[in-house]
Amino acid sequence: MVNNVTTRRRFIQAGGGVVAASLAATASSAATLAQARGGTRAMGQPLPEGVKLPSTPPRRKRPDSVGFAIVGLGGYALNQMMPRFDQAERAHIAAIVSGNPDKLRRVGDAYGVPEDARYSYDAFARIASDDRIDAVYIVLPTGLHAEWAIRAFAAGKHVLCEKPMALSSADCERMIAASRRADRKLMLAYRSHFEPYNLEAMTLMEQKAVGAIRLVRSEQSYRMGPTSPSENWRANRMLAGGGPLEDYGIYGLQSALYLTGEMPESVSATTFRPTGDPRFSEIFAHVASQLRFPSGAVAQLVTSYDSAGTNFAHVRGTDGALIMDPATSYSGQKMRLEARNAREFAPGDPSVQFARQLDHFTNAVRDGEAIRTSGEMGLRDLRLIEAIYAAAETGRTVNLAPDGRMRR
Ligand code: NAD
Repeated sequence: MVNNVTTRRRFIQAGGGVVAASLAATASSAATLAQARGGTRAMGQPLPEGVKLPSTPPRRKRPDSVGFAIVGLGGYALNQMMPRFDQAERAHIAAIVSGNPDKLRRVGDAYGVPEDARYSYDAFARIASDDRIDAVYIVLPTGLHAEWAIRAFAAGKHVLCEKPMALSSADCERMIAASRRADRKLMLAYRSHFEPYNLEAMTLMEQKAVGAIRLVRSEQSYRMGPTSPSENWRANRMLAGGGPLEDYGIYGLQSALYLTGEMPESVSATTFRPTGDPRFSEIFAHVASQLRFPSGAVAQLVTSYDSAGTNFAHVRGTDGALIMDPATSYSGQKMRLEARNAREFAPGDPSVQFARQLDHFTNAVRDGEAIRTSGEMGLRDLRLIEAIYAAAETGRTVNLAPDGRMRR
């Protein structure tokens, strides 16, 4: 039997301990959350190297376009998402939020953001009275998602939140409660749900293209360069949790669920953290887990920050296999079916995933379209991540309820 809260607390304490205090925090306000997290504050960083800013600011295309405030001007926001607003139908960048005044100026100028719509973290609450902003896109380190999502809801805005949703299921529950209280939308930026190859793979699996699914294998790995928790938030437990699973392995976890169309009924796992390596003084180097589904299908998921890069998902069924390699990249996806009708697939340009994700969110905001990647999905995934860590820590198989909660 596994005690959910105790196990999670011990897991967090292993890396420094302070976050454990948040587990006891019952109040749902962002201020309480931030206080409980002591030390994990939003702080401006310099403009990342190699960022290409647009030479002409993108234009909004429609009068009902949704205005976004971008919170966190880091690598992913500046290199991937912000340039893609230009391809979205009715999303535009209305404001930016950063703790670095020089970055605010340079990014604001390039994207045509008016000076009075460039906010510091300290001034964030003022977005409440800024009608140009309908929604907040949170692209901060993961340990800050919950606090800033709750602040955005308190300001009456909708929230698009980067993955993973937060570092604990308790924080996910607070975010969902804040969204309901504010009567504002909450969507997780799980871009693979808008990417043609993964969508085609979901259809193929529904059509039983490999017969009954028996085995899923996925791996998401890369080798992290020399760093330490103070230099890089991805190596810092209070901002990144256990590390590769939350950051990269979550794609494998997600694909195991959307390819099988099932929730696992049990999980076993192992983690590894080498001694004497500053990259892994607080986070794990590898996390490997095995999920068993009610149909009997088994998924083996491996993720690592210390092995050569890869990103694949294989599904093997009674009549064949689907090979996705790379499976969930920004672009360059490849997918083939090894079965009676063996063939390669090219269902479309993977890079449309970014703009399509924005358009799905804006359809939800403007037309009430049901959100495919909801806060509940983000919560479900955090429950499974907690179960994986609990299984690794106890060395025992953890049984799961259909909503991903650990059975006691
Ligand atoms: P990054 O380090 O490049 O950027 C982080 C941003 O947060 C920077 O602008 C930094 O100034 C700001 N920040 C505020 N407080 C900070 C603090 N205390 N420590 C460090 N930075 C702080 O990271 P990133 O790669 O842009 O990741 C940001 C988010 O986007 C994460 O949630 C990550 O999981 C997500 N992400 C998603 C994808 C995807 O494919 N969907 C890809 C990469 C990152």
